[in-house]
Amino acid sequence: MINKIKGTYDILPDETNKWQNLEEVIRNVSKLFNFKEIRTPIFEYSELFHRGVGETTDIVKKETYDFKDRGGRSVTLRPEGTASVVRSAIENKLYASANQPVKLYYHGPMFRYERPQKGRYRQFRQFGAEALGSNSPLIDAEIINYASTVLEALRIKDITVKVNSLGGSESKETYKQKLKEYLKPNITKLCSDCQRRYEENPLRVLDCKVDKGNPILVKAPKPLDYLTDEDRYHFDQVIEALDAIGLNYVVDNSLVRGLDYYTHTVFEIDANLESLGAQKTLVGGGRYNNLVKSLDGPDVPSVGFAFGMERLLIALESVNKIEPKPFIHCFMIALGDSVKNDSLRIVNDLRHGGLVCDYDFFNKNLKGKFKQSDRLNPMFNLIYGSEEKEKGVINVKVVKTGEQKQVPLKDLYQFLVNSIRNITTNSCAGNCSSCDECD
Ligand code: AMP
Repeated sequence: MINKIKGTYDILPDETNKWQNLEEVIRNVSKLFNFKEIRTPIFEYSELFHRGVGETTDIVKKETYDFKDRGGRSVTLRPEGTASVVRSAIENKLYASANQPVKLYYHGPMFRYERPQKGRYRQFRQFGAEALGSNSPLIDAEIINYASTVLEALRIKDITVKVNSLGGSESKETYKQKLKEYLKPNITKLCSDCQRRYEENPLRVLDCKVDKGNPILVKAPKPLDYLTDEDRYHFDQVIEALDAIGLNYVVDNSLVRGLDYYTHTVFEIDANLESLGAQKTLVGGGRYNNLVKSLDGPDVPSVGFAFGMERLLIALESVNKIEPKPFIHCFMIALGDSVKNDSLRIVNDLRHGGLVCDYDFFNKNLKGKFKQSDRLNPMFNLIYGSEEKEKGVINVKVVKTGEQKQVPLKDLYQFLVNSIRNITTNSCAGNCSSCDECD
Protein backbone atom coordinates (compact mmCIF):
# COMPACT_ATOMS: atom_id res chain seq x y z
CA MET A 1 0.00 0.00 0.00
CA ILE A 2 1.26 3.46 -0.85
CA ASN A 3 0.59 5.93 1.97
CA LYS A 4 0.11 9.67 1.93
CA ILE A 5 3.19 11.84 2.36
CA LYS A 6 4.05 12.77 5.97
CA GLY A 7 2.48 16.09 6.96
CA THR A 8 -0.33 15.81 4.38
CA TYR A 9 -3.89 14.60 4.86
CA ASP A 10 -6.92 13.66 2.80
CA ILE A 11 -10.14 15.61 3.08
CA LEU A 12 -12.64 12.75 3.12
CA PRO A 13 -16.21 13.11 1.83
CA ASP A 14 -17.66 13.52 5.34
CA GLU A 15 -15.34 16.47 5.94
CA THR A 16 -15.62 18.36 2.66
CA ASN A 17 -18.77 20.19 3.75
CA LYS A 18 -16.81 21.81 6.61
CA TRP A 19 -14.34 23.14 4.07
CA GLN A 20 -17.08 24.29 1.74
CA ASN A 21 -18.82 26.13 4.61
CA LEU A 22 -15.55 27.79 5.58
CA GLU A 23 -14.88 28.78 1.97
CA GLU A 24 -18.39 30.23 1.74
CA VAL A 25 -17.86 32.41 4.83
CA ILE A 26 -14.55 33.57 3.37
CA ARG A 27 -16.24 34.44 0.08
CA ASN A 28 -19.10 36.28 1.78
CA VAL A 29 -16.93 38.36 4.11
CA SER A 30 -14.52 39.14 1.25
CA LYS A 31 -17.49 40.45 -0.74
CA LEU A 32 -18.50 42.70 2.16
CA PHE A 33 -15.03 44.28 2.08
CA ASN A 34 -15.04 44.37 -1.75
CA PHE A 35 -12.00 42.10 -2.19
CA LYS A 36 -11.91 40.00 -5.38
CA GLU A 37 -10.54 36.47 -5.64
CA ILE A 38 -7.26 35.78 -7.44
CA ARG A 39 -5.96 32.27 -8.26
CA THR A 40 -2.28 31.83 -8.98
CA PRO A 41 -0.28 28.66 -9.81
CA ILE A 42 0.89 26.48 -6.93
CA PHE A 43 4.45 26.53 -8.23
CA GLU A 44 6.63 29.41 -9.29
CA TYR A 45 10.26 30.02 -10.17
CA SER A 46 12.26 29.54 -6.95
CA GLU A 47 13.74 33.01 -7.31
CA LEU A 48 10.33 34.55 -6.57
CA PHE A 49 10.30 33.16 -3.03
CA HIS A 50 14.03 33.65 -2.47
CA ARG A 51 13.66 37.34 -3.25
CA GLY A 52 10.08 37.76 -2.02
CA VAL A 53 9.96 35.85 1.26
CA GLY A 54 13.67 36.45 1.97
CA GLU A 55 16.86 34.36 1.69
CA THR A 56 17.42 34.48 5.43
CA THR A 57 13.96 33.33 6.54
CA ASP A 58 13.40 29.85 7.97
CA ILE A 59 10.90 29.25 5.18
CA VAL A 60 13.41 29.71 2.38
CA LYS A 61 16.42 28.31 4.27
CA LYS A 62 14.79 25.11 5.53
CA GLU A 63 11.22 24.64 4.46
CA THR A 64 10.64 25.07 0.74
CA TYR A 65 9.99 22.18 -1.64
CA ASP A 66 12.42 23.02 -4.45
CA PHE A 67 13.08 20.96 -7.52
CA LYS A 68 14.39 21.17 -11.04
CA ASP A 69 11.80 20.64 -13.75
CA ARG A 70 12.63 18.61 -16.85
CA GLY A 71 13.86 21.78 -18.54
CA GLY A 72 16.40 22.30 -15.74
CA ARG A 73 14.59 25.32 -14.23
CA SER A 74 14.50 25.74 -10.45
CA VAL A 75 10.90 25.76 -9.31
CA THR A 76 9.31 25.82 -5.84
CA LEU A 77 5.94 24.74 -4.50
CA ARG A 78 4.57 27.96 -3.03
CA PRO A 79 5.17 28.22 0.72
CA GLU A 80 2.86 31.27 1.05
CA GLY A 81 0.60 33.36 -1.14
CA THR A 82 1.79 36.97 -1.04
CA ALA A 83 4.84 36.63 -3.32
CA SER A 84 2.72 34.93 -6.02
CA VAL A 85 -0.05 37.53 -5.78
CA VAL A 86 2.50 40.33 -6.08
CA ARG A 87 4.19 38.56 -9.03
CA SER A 88 0.84 38.25 -10.75
CA ALA A 89 -0.12 41.87 -10.00
CA ILE A 90 3.16 43.05 -11.56
CA GLU A 91 2.97 40.70 -14.56
CA ASN A 92 -0.66 41.62 -15.27
CA LYS A 93 -0.19 45.30 -14.39
CA LEU A 94 -3.04 45.19 -11.89
CA TYR A 95 -1.56 48.18 -10.09
CA ALA A 96 -2.39 50.27 -13.21
CA SER A 97 -6.14 49.64 -12.74
CA ALA A 98 -8.36 52.65 -12.04
CA ASN A 99 -9.60 51.08 -8.81
CA GLN A 100 -6.96 51.60 -6.15
CA PRO A 101 -5.98 49.98 -3.91
CA VAL A 102 -6.21 46.66 -5.76
CA LYS A 103 -7.97 44.40 -3.24
CA LEU A 104 -7.40 40.68 -3.72
CA TYR A 105 -7.97 37.51 -1.76
CA TYR A 106 -6.94 33.89 -2.36
CA HIS A 107 -7.17 30.50 -0.75
CA GLY A 108 -5.43 27.26 -1.55
CA PRO A 109 -2.64 24.85 -0.63
CA MET A 110 0.81 25.96 0.52
CA PHE A 111 3.84 23.74 1.14
CA ARG A 112 6.46 23.90 3.88
CA TYR A 113 8.83 21.20 5.08
CA GLU A 114 8.08 21.66 8.79
CA ARG A 115 7.83 19.23 11.69
CA PRO A 116 4.22 18.04 11.43
CA GLN A 117 2.01 18.36 14.53
CA LYS A 118 -1.56 19.39 15.26
CA GLY A 119 -2.21 22.63 13.35
CA ARG A 120 1.10 22.38 11.48
CA TYR A 121 1.36 20.43 8.24
CA ARG A 122 3.60 20.13 5.20
CA GLN A 123 0.72 20.78 2.84
CA PHE A 124 -1.72 23.20 4.45
CA ARG A 125 -4.20 25.72 3.19
CA GLN A 126 -4.15 29.46 3.62
CA PHE A 127 -6.76 32.10 3.02
CA GLY A 128 -5.08 35.43 2.48
CA ALA A 129 -5.84 38.94 1.33
CA GLU A 130 -3.69 41.72 -0.09
CA ALA A 131 -4.45 45.41 -0.68
CA LEU A 132 -1.91 46.79 -3.15
CA GLY A 133 -1.40 50.48 -3.82
CA SER A 134 -2.20 52.47 -0.69
CA ASN A 135 -0.11 53.70 2.19
CA SER A 136 -3.16 54.87 4.12
CA PRO A 137 -3.24 53.69 7.75
CA LEU A 138 -6.98 53.22 7.18
CA ILE A 139 -6.32 50.26 4.92
CA ASP A 140 -4.05 48.71 7.61
CA ALA A 141 -7.02 48.98 9.98
CA GLU A 142 -9.37 47.71 7.26
CA ILE A 143 -7.21 44.61 6.76
CA ILE A 144 -7.18 43.89 10.52
CA ASN A 145 -10.93 44.47 10.62
CA TYR A 146 -11.46 42.15 7.61
CA ALA A 147 -9.54 39.36 9.39
CA SER A 148 -11.50 39.86 12.64
CA THR A 149 -14.78 39.94 10.74
CA VAL A 150 -14.01 36.51 9.27
CA LEU A 151 -13.61 35.19 12.82
CA GLU A 152 -16.78 36.95 13.93
CA ALA A 153 -18.68 35.38 11.00
CA LEU A 154 -17.34 31.98 12.10
CA ARG A 155 -18.38 32.76 15.71
CA ILE A 156 -14.83 32.31 16.98
CA LYS A 157 -15.11 34.88 19.74
CA ASP A 158 -12.37 34.24 22.28
CA ILE A 159 -9.53 35.87 20.36
CA THR A 160 -6.64 38.26 20.95
CA VAL A 161 -5.77 40.75 18.22
CA LYS A 162 -2.11 41.77 18.63
CA VAL A 163 -0.72 44.76 16.72
CA ASN A 164 2.72 46.31 16.50
CA SER A 165 4.82 48.43 14.18
CA LEU A 166 8.30 47.74 12.83
CA GLY A 167 8.43 51.08 11.01
CA GLY A 168 9.79 51.74 7.53
CA SER A 169 13.35 51.05 6.30
CA GLU A 170 14.96 53.79 8.43
CA SER A 171 13.25 52.79 11.68
CA LYS A 172 13.90 49.09 10.99
CA GLU A 173 17.60 49.74 10.37
CA THR A 174 18.02 51.76 13.59
CA TYR A 175 16.20 49.08 15.53
CA LYS A 176 18.28 46.29 13.97
CA GLN A 177 21.50 48.00 15.10
CA LYS A 178 20.16 48.47 18.67
CA LEU A 179 19.03 44.86 18.80
CA LYS A 180 22.42 43.61 17.59
CA GLU A 181 24.21 45.67 20.24
CA TYR A 182 21.91 44.23 22.90
CA LEU A 183 22.18 40.61 21.75
CA LYS A 184 25.96 40.60 21.17
CA PRO A 185 27.06 39.68 24.73
CA ASN A 186 24.32 37.01 25.01
CA ILE A 187 24.31 35.46 21.60
CA THR A 188 26.12 32.25 22.62
CA LYS A 189 23.30 31.54 25.09
CA LEU A 190 20.78 31.31 22.25
CA CYS A 191 20.15 28.40 19.86
CA SER A 192 22.44 27.72 16.90
CA ASP A 193 19.86 28.99 14.42
CA CYS A 194 19.63 32.26 16.37
CA GLN A 195 23.40 32.64 16.18
CA ARG A 196 23.13 32.48 12.40
CA ARG A 197 20.07 34.75 12.40
CA TYR A 198 21.97 37.31 14.49
CA GLU A 199 24.40 37.76 11.60
CA GLU A 200 21.93 37.54 8.74
CA ASN A 201 18.76 39.12 10.08
CA PRO A 202 18.64 39.85 13.82
CA LEU A 203 14.85 40.52 13.85
CA ARG A 204 14.31 36.81 13.18
CA VAL A 205 15.94 36.01 16.54
CA LEU A 206 12.85 37.47 18.25
CA ASP A 207 10.65 35.10 16.29
CA CYS A 208 12.57 31.95 17.29
CA LYS A 209 10.38 28.93 18.11
CA VAL A 210 13.15 27.33 20.25
CA ASP A 211 14.02 30.38 22.36
CA LYS A 212 10.45 31.59 22.75
CA GLY A 213 10.04 32.99 26.31
CA ASN A 214 13.81 33.16 26.91
CA PRO A 215 14.37 36.18 29.26
CA ILE A 216 17.13 37.46 26.97
CA LEU A 217 14.55 37.86 24.21
CA VAL A 218 11.77 39.05 26.51
CA LYS A 219 13.97 41.94 27.71
CA ALA A 220 15.22 42.86 24.24
CA PRO A 221 14.67 46.41 22.90
CA LYS A 222 11.29 46.93 21.24
CA PRO A 223 10.76 48.20 17.68
CA LEU A 224 8.13 50.76 18.81
CA ASP A 225 10.84 52.66 20.73
CA TYR A 226 12.84 53.25 17.55
CA LEU A 227 10.19 54.51 15.13
CA THR A 228 10.79 57.75 13.25
CA ASP A 229 8.17 60.45 13.91
CA GLU A 230 6.54 59.72 10.57
CA ASP A 231 6.32 55.97 11.24
CA ARG A 232 5.00 56.60 14.75
CA TYR A 233 2.32 58.87 13.26
CA HIS A 234 1.31 56.09 10.81
CA PHE A 235 0.96 53.61 13.67
CA ASP A 236 -1.03 56.09 15.80
CA GLN A 237 -3.42 56.56 12.88
CA VAL A 238 -3.90 52.79 12.59
CA ILE A 239 -4.69 52.63 16.31
CA GLU A 240 -7.13 55.54 16.03
CA ALA A 241 -8.93 53.81 13.16
CA LEU A 242 -9.16 50.53 15.15
CA ASP A 243 -10.60 52.48 18.09
CA ALA A 244 -13.11 54.17 15.79
CA ILE A 245 -14.29 50.77 14.50
CA GLY A 246 -14.53 49.54 18.09
CA LEU A 247 -12.19 46.63 17.47
CA ASN A 248 -10.54 45.12 20.57
CA TYR A 249 -6.74 44.78 20.27
CA VAL A 250 -3.59 44.84 22.33
CA VAL A 251 -0.34 46.52 21.31
CA ASP A 252 2.21 43.70 21.54
CA ASN A 253 5.55 45.44 21.23
CA SER A 254 7.48 42.18 20.87
CA LEU A 255 5.58 41.02 17.75
CA VAL A 256 7.87 40.86 14.69
CA ARG A 257 6.48 38.11 12.33
CA GLY A 258 8.59 35.52 10.53
CA LEU A 259 8.81 36.94 7.00
CA ASP A 260 11.35 39.48 5.79
CA TYR A 261 9.08 41.71 3.81
CA TYR A 262 7.09 43.31 6.63
CA THR A 263 7.40 47.04 7.34
CA HIS A 264 5.26 49.29 9.56
CA THR A 265 2.11 47.60 10.90
CA VAL A 266 2.26 43.90 11.80
CA PHE A 267 -0.52 41.94 13.46
CA GLU A 268 -1.58 38.47 14.56
CA ILE A 269 -4.83 37.08 15.89
CA ASP A 270 -4.62 34.23 18.39
CA ALA A 271 -7.56 32.06 19.43
CA ASN A 272 -7.59 31.29 23.13
CA LEU A 273 -8.61 27.66 22.68
CA GLU A 274 -7.10 24.54 24.25
CA SER A 275 -7.82 22.52 21.12
CA LEU A 276 -5.19 24.45 19.15
CA GLY A 277 -2.35 23.41 21.48
CA ALA A 278 0.73 25.52 20.79
CA GLN A 279 -0.51 26.62 17.35
CA LYS A 280 -2.83 29.39 18.52
CA THR A 281 -2.10 31.92 15.80
CA LEU A 282 -4.93 31.81 13.29
CA VAL A 283 -3.83 34.71 11.13
CA GLY A 284 -0.78 36.87 10.64
CA GLY A 285 -0.17 39.85 8.46
CA GLY A 286 0.98 43.39 8.03
CA ARG A 287 2.29 46.02 5.71
CA TYR A 288 4.94 45.25 3.10
CA ASN A 289 5.82 48.54 1.43
CA ASN A 290 8.99 47.43 -0.34
CA LEU A 291 8.03 44.00 -1.66
CA VAL A 292 6.46 45.02 -4.98
CA LYS A 293 9.47 47.16 -5.87
CA SER A 294 11.92 44.46 -4.80
CA LEU A 295 10.20 42.08 -7.24
CA ASP A 296 10.79 44.58 -10.09
CA GLY A 297 7.36 46.21 -9.86
CA PRO A 298 6.57 49.87 -9.21
CA ASP A 299 6.90 51.44 -5.78
CA VAL A 300 3.52 50.24 -4.49
CA PRO A 301 2.87 50.16 -0.75
CA SER A 302 0.77 47.17 0.28
CA VAL A 303 -0.72 45.35 3.23
CA GLY A 304 -2.21 41.88 3.75
CA PHE A 305 -2.83 38.84 5.92
CA ALA A 306 -2.86 35.03 5.75
CA PHE A 307 -5.03 32.65 7.78
CA GLY A 308 -4.18 28.99 8.34
CA MET A 309 -7.41 27.29 7.28
CA GLU A 310 -6.80 24.02 9.17
CA ARG A 311 -6.43 26.03 12.37
CA LEU A 312 -9.69 27.80 11.61
CA LEU A 313 -11.39 24.42 11.33
CA ILE A 314 -9.84 23.15 14.56
CA ALA A 315 -11.05 26.33 16.29
CA LEU A 316 -14.47 26.01 14.70
CA GLU A 317 -14.87 22.44 15.91
CA SER A 318 -14.41 23.44 19.53
CA VAL A 319 -16.73 26.48 19.46
CA ASN A 320 -19.38 25.15 17.14
CA LYS A 321 -19.97 21.54 18.12
CA ILE A 322 -23.00 20.87 15.92
CA GLU A 323 -21.94 20.30 12.35
CA PRO A 324 -24.40 20.98 9.57
CA LYS A 325 -25.40 17.53 8.35
CA PRO A 326 -24.87 16.52 4.73
CA PHE A 327 -28.21 17.15 3.21
CA ILE A 328 -30.50 15.12 0.92
CA HIS A 329 -34.07 15.99 0.00
CA CYS A 330 -35.22 12.74 -1.65
CA PHE A 331 -34.16 9.12 -1.81
CA MET A 332 -35.82 7.15 -4.61
CA ILE A 333 -36.97 3.63 -3.80
CA ALA A 334 -37.77 2.04 -7.16
CA LEU A 335 -39.67 -1.25 -6.85
CA GLY A 336 -38.57 -3.57 -9.63
CA ASP A 337 -36.89 -3.49 -13.00
CA SER A 338 -39.95 -2.24 -14.86
CA VAL A 339 -39.71 1.21 -13.23
CA LYS A 340 -35.94 1.63 -12.99
CA ASN A 341 -35.64 4.01 -15.96
CA ASP A 342 -38.82 5.95 -15.06
CA SER A 343 -37.61 6.49 -11.52
CA LEU A 344 -34.24 7.74 -12.78
CA ARG A 345 -36.10 10.24 -14.97
CA ILE A 346 -38.22 11.39 -12.00
CA VAL A 347 -35.10 11.89 -9.90
CA ASN A 348 -33.45 13.76 -12.72
CA ASP A 349 -36.43 16.12 -13.14
CA LEU A 350 -36.41 16.87 -9.41
CA ARG A 351 -32.69 17.65 -9.55
CA HIS A 352 -33.32 20.12 -12.36
CA GLY A 353 -35.75 21.81 -9.99
CA GLY A 354 -32.95 22.15 -7.39
CA LEU A 355 -33.73 19.17 -5.12
CA VAL A 356 -30.87 17.00 -3.85
CA CYS A 357 -31.72 13.38 -4.75
CA ASP A 358 -30.05 9.99 -4.47
CA TYR A 359 -30.85 6.53 -5.79
CA ASP A 360 -30.06 2.86 -5.11
CA PHE A 361 -27.74 1.81 -7.92
CA PHE A 362 -27.23 -1.74 -6.61
CA ASN A 363 -30.78 -2.93 -7.18
CA LYS A 364 -30.99 -4.02 -3.51
CA ASN A 365 -34.09 -5.68 -2.09
CA LEU A 366 -36.67 -3.50 -0.32
CA LYS A 367 -35.05 -3.95 3.10
CA GLY A 368 -31.66 -3.00 1.66
CA LYS A 369 -33.09 0.11 0.03
CA PHE A 370 -34.66 1.29 3.30
CA LYS A 371 -31.39 0.59 5.12
CA GLN A 372 -29.56 2.78 2.62
CA SER A 373 -32.18 5.48 3.11
CA ASP A 374 -31.66 5.28 6.90
CA ARG A 375 -27.97 5.92 6.40
CA LEU A 376 -28.54 8.88 4.06
CA ASN A 377 -31.34 10.32 6.20
CA PRO A 378 -33.23 12.20 3.46
CA MET A 379 -36.30 14.38 4.09
CA PHE A 380 -38.43 12.13 1.86
CA ASN A 381 -38.45 8.60 0.56
CA LEU A 382 -40.08 8.37 -2.86
CA ILE A 383 -41.54 4.91 -3.36
CA TYR A 384 -42.39 3.98 -6.91
CA GLY A 385 -43.41 0.63 -8.45
CA SER A 386 -45.36 -0.70 -11.45
CA GLU A 387 -48.70 -0.17 -9.68
CA GLU A 388 -47.92 3.50 -9.08
CA LYS A 389 -46.67 3.82 -12.65
CA GLU A 390 -49.95 2.51 -13.98
CA LYS A 391 -51.96 5.00 -11.86
CA GLY A 392 -49.59 7.94 -12.59
CA VAL A 393 -48.86 8.45 -8.87
CA ILE A 394 -45.94 8.12 -6.46
CA ASN A 395 -45.73 7.50 -2.69
CA VAL A 396 -43.98 10.21 -0.70
CA LYS A 397 -42.93 9.34 2.84
CA VAL A 398 -41.78 12.12 5.19
CA VAL A 399 -38.91 10.35 6.94
CA LYS A 400 -38.96 12.38 10.17
CA THR A 401 -42.68 11.77 10.90
CA GLY A 402 -43.33 8.52 9.00
CA GLU A 403 -46.31 10.19 7.32
CA GLN A 404 -46.96 8.83 3.82
CA LYS A 405 -49.05 10.24 0.98
CA GLN A 406 -49.82 9.20 -2.58
CA VAL A 407 -49.28 12.14 -4.91
CA PRO A 408 -50.06 12.43 -8.65
CA LEU A 409 -46.72 12.32 -10.45
CA LYS A 410 -47.44 15.58 -12.26
CA ASP A 411 -47.84 17.35 -8.87
CA LEU A 412 -44.78 15.74 -7.23
CA TYR A 413 -42.37 18.64 -7.58
CA GLN A 414 -44.79 21.26 -6.23
CA PHE A 415 -45.86 18.91 -3.42
CA LEU A 416 -42.24 18.44 -2.34
CA VAL A 417 -41.41 22.14 -2.54
CA ASN A 418 -44.47 23.00 -0.39
CA SER A 419 -43.65 20.27 2.13
CA ILE A 420 -40.02 21.40 2.37
CA ARG A 421 -41.21 24.95 3.05
CA ASN A 422 -43.52 23.68 5.81
CA ILE A 423 -40.89 21.45 7.38
CA THR A 424 -38.16 24.12 7.40
CA THR A 425 -40.42 26.86 8.79
CA ASN A 426 -42.05 24.66 11.44
CA SER A 427 -39.06 22.63 12.54
CA CYS A 428 -35.42 22.46 11.62
CA ALA A 429 -34.21 20.08 8.96
CA GLY A 430 -30.79 19.97 10.56
CA ASN A 431 -28.85 22.63 8.69
CA CYS A 432 -30.69 25.92 9.16
CA SER A 433 -27.99 27.47 11.42
CA SER A 434 -30.66 29.66 13.05
CA CYS A 435 -32.76 27.41 15.29
CA ASP A 436 -31.73 26.53 18.85
CA GLU A 437 -30.38 23.15 17.83
CA CYS A 438 -28.22 24.46 15.00
CA ASP A 439 -27.25 27.84 16.48
P1 AMP B 1 2.75 32.84 7.77
O1 AMP B 1 2.54 32.72 6.28
O2 AMP B 1 3.94 32.07 8.26
O3 AMP B 1 2.69 34.26 8.24
O4 AMP B 1 1.51 32.10 8.45
C1 AMP B 1 0.20 32.60 8.40
C2 AMP B 1 -0.71 31.59 9.05
O5 AMP B 1 -0.69 30.38 8.30
C3 AMP B 1 -0.28 31.16 10.44
O6 AMP B 1 -0.77 32.05 11.41
C4 AMP B 1 -0.91 29.80 10.57
O7 AMP B 1 -2.27 29.93 10.94
C5 AMP B 1 -0.83 29.27 9.16
N1 AMP B 1 0.32 28.36 8.97
C6 AMP B 1 1.61 28.66 8.76
N2 AMP B 1 2.36 27.54 8.61
C7 AMP B 1 1.51 26.50 8.73
C8 AMP B 1 1.65 25.07 8.67
N3 AMP B 1 2.83 24.48 8.42
N4 AMP B 1 0.56 24.31 8.85
C9 AMP B 1 -0.66 24.87 9.09
N5 AMP B 1 -0.87 26.20 9.15
C10 AMP B 1 0.21 27.02 8.97
